[in-house]
Amino acid sequence: MRIFKFGGASVKDAESVRNIPGILSKYKGDDLVVIVSAMGKTTNALEALAGSAFNKDASKEKLFADIKAYHQGIAEALFPDKAHDLYKHFDMLFRELEGWIHTDNTYDYDMYYDQIVPYGELLSTRIISYYLNESGLKEKWMDVRELIITDSTYRSAKVDWDATSKRITERVKPEIMMGNMVISQGFIAGNGHYSTSLGREGSDFTSAIFAHILDAEEVIVWKDVPGYLNADPKFFDDTVKLDRISYTESIELAFYGAKIIHPKTIRPLKNKRIPLLVKSFLEPDAPGSLIYEDISSDALVPSFIVKENQVLISISSRDFSFIAEDHLHKIFGLFSTHRVRINLMQNSAISFSVCTDNTARLKVLIEELQKGFRLKYNDELQLVTIRHYDEETIDRLSGGKEILLEQRSRVTVQMVIK
Ligand code: ASP
Ligand code: MG
Repeated sequence: MRIFKFGGASVKDAESVRNIPGILSKYKGDDLVVIVSAMGKTTNALEALAGSAFNKDASKEKLFADIKAYHQGIAEALFPDKAHDLYKHFDMLFRELEGWIHTDNTYDYDMYYDQIVPYGELLSTRIISYYLNESGLKEKWMDVRELIITDSTYRSAKVDWDATSKRITERVKPEIMMGNMVISQGFIAGNGHYSTSLGREGSDFTSAIFAHILDAEEVIVWKDVPGYLNADPKFFDDTVKLDRISYTESIELAFYGAKIIHPKTIRPLKNKRIPLLVKSFLEPDAPGSLIYEDISSDALVPSFIVKENQVLISISSRDFSFIAEDHLHKIFGLFSTHRVRINLMQNSAISFSVCTDNTARLKVLIEELQKGFRLKYNDELQLVTIRHYDEETIDRLSGGKEILLEQRSRVTVQMVIK
């Protein structure tokens, strides 16, 4: 049993979809569950649609039309016959989505958002399932909202493992036994009444949930990069592929902002020692990167992670007293209440410095903090993290730039750079 995940980039246009049967046919005879993301940047588009429709903004009509046209374009390239069954599903899905954006009901925003975003994955999996079927592969489309059961923490729903395990075992296993490969959606889930979602980029986590419950032999995440790279190719030309990394190292990298694997993915795999492979859908025969228990290769190559749009805030008490535990208690309380994540922190006698992403929530938090503390802040900064650093890579990344704050441990150096 193998669990595959195809991300947005691997299904972003008709040509990418045409590539998938070739990859799957290399695994003929294996039991497969195929988890698919929304096509290209569809989730971003649906997010914009949710925001616009929630605020009853007129822009929602154009946003909706663009999403529809994009999918229609891909579908028509793959299924020129207008009478194809796919279009019945299309009509139904778009009618449902349209219903949601024209509803007068007032929902909580996070709940409303979770009713809109699933259409990305619902559409992509319908297209792919029909395409695989026409390519002669035996497949079964399944609605993951009936398989992965969560609580009602909309936008970051918690999995009910017992209920999910029962559903997946009862419904997915028989399909596999009948020789069907199962095609289902990443990222979304259900709470029995409504759609929920597992958090952005959550499809990797979806594959790990299936792998854990079905005791899969491995998970393969198909990407547009040759594997797990030591840096984001958007920022660096000379990236190096990491051939093997440990589960813990991949969690560390994700913590510092590496985008390749969703951090929640690792635990369900680690608990059952299921290997995770990251492979390129452009070169399916190349070995890719293996994430497993072995830590022997972790320190071979320095990895760099750049987080942009960072803010460095220095917080001090109004009476210049030392920053003591009671201040920190108050400060952390406010960060937690406003759900602002601290990317790096450091304290001195009279000030406590925090580096964080620049978000709308942060603005509200800053106003709150200013009621009790003196604040100084700098924005438009970069937070650069180097794992397994050496002096050469530090110089390369910080040379000629102003470093506002630096922190080193044995394996990690972090710098806030102007
Ligand atoms: N489509 C979702 C997103 O873009 C989930 C995923 O791609 O993993 O966040
Ligand atoms: Mg995606």
